Amino acid sequence: MAYDVQKIRKDFPLLGRQVHGKPLVYLDNAATTQKPKGVIESLTRFYSETNANIHRGNHGLGAEATALYEQARGAVARFIGSETGEQIVFTRNTTESINLVAQAWGRANVKAGDEILITEAEHHANFVPWWQLAQEKGAVLKVAALTPDGLIDAASVKALLGPKTKVFAFGWVSNVLGGVNDAKALTALGKAAGAVVLVDAAQSAPHFAMDVEALGADFVAFSAHKLLGPTGLGVLWGRHSLLESMPPWQGGGSMISTVSAENITWNRLPWKFEAGTPNIADAVAFAEALKYLKGLGWEALEAHEKALSERALAALKGLDGLTLYGPQTAKDRVAVFSFNLAGLDAGDAGAILDSLGLELRVGNLCAQPLMKHFACAGMIRASFYLYNTLEEVDALAEGLKRAQKMLGKVGAKA
Ligand code: PMP
Repeated sequence: MAYDVQKIRKDFPLLGRQVHGKPLVYLDNAATTQKPKGVIESLTRFYSETNANIHRGNHGLGAEATALYEQARGAVARFIGSETGEQIVFTRNTTESINLVAQAWGRANVKAGDEILITEAEHHANFVPWWQLAQEKGAVLKVAALTPDGLIDAASVKALLGPKTKVFAFGWVSNVLGGVNDAKALTALGKAAGAVVLVDAAQSAPHFAMDVEALGADFVAFSAHKLLGPTGLGVLWGRHSLLESMPPWQGGGSMISTVSAENITWNRLPWKFEAGTPNIADAVAFAEALKYLKGLGWEALEAHEKALSERALAALKGLDGLTLYGPQTAKDRVAVFSFNLAGLDAGDAGAILDSLGLELRVGNLCAQPLMKHFACAGMIRASFYLYNTLEEVDALAEGLKRAQKMLGKVGAKA
């Protein structure tokens, strides 16, 4: 069946609205995606029909809510190829998933003089928790370099990995550059050096299928809100033996088995890492998001994104003074584009685009080390998703030309 983007758009109520009196062109999908009706309705349905606390087991409603929550965990496990649901820990977001590993696993396993390897392309979420751990333990934080195309340089990773490397944490896809790293090969390098490997899949999970078992990493983190799901829900997948051996992170209800003043024993996986009342409704609604994505099919989604990427690259390259960061072709990338136009302040451009209804992100994109790498203070980022149209790519190009003219900088090419 042909990919009918107009039909898909009808599933997303928000896309029909206006901003500043102009039809919305939503190009900030790397920050968060819009939600299909099924997800929104699932939230209302849960609160209207099934809301109760879970894992308490003392009434029927609670049992229904528990079943829905645990079914959602099962759906996530199947979605990412996890052998068991026990390896799926629900968190608040990618950031919390990474902090969980840095704090629970890291504090127990990293000591003074050990090395932690990350890369120059990391989002602050996969940079700051490791920096904090290094500070706390007196460990050494090492930062792998990038290729000219902004991909993680395997040679640099190889050179920096060593017997002291305890953990290697890297992003599968940069939230700035859109390039798809060879996560399997990078993981293999880390494992061969004896490091624990964490993959930040926040920007890859929305765009292509993942099989965590085939990937071979120890931890994988991503956020529901970047793939059509609700905010406030993240996923940490972990290798079973590591999750078992790690101490819990936060203490409280649900994560314990027995409690007395003398001794406390922990609950089984994954609940050992889910202290307190979890985000029940959003987990249930996330299962709807996954169902929606599955219904669309990765192949169709990827083909649509490739068409968007090709159009975006051609349109952007038609602008005077363009510096496009990251991969220059539609190959091995997702439809996320960060750039600058000579003489145009990214913030000023963002304000003009916003006034035209084009909602996109400008600034340091939560990646200050990467801004330093490219010697710029900020960038303009257009990030597309499955409901964007080719006409919206053209609207972006027109908006940028208008910004160039209005700010009296480089004239747009004819
Ligand atoms: N890693 C990457 C690569 C990201 O793009 C983001 C979100 N922009 C995060 C981590 C953090 O995600 P969240 O804000 O949902 O925790």
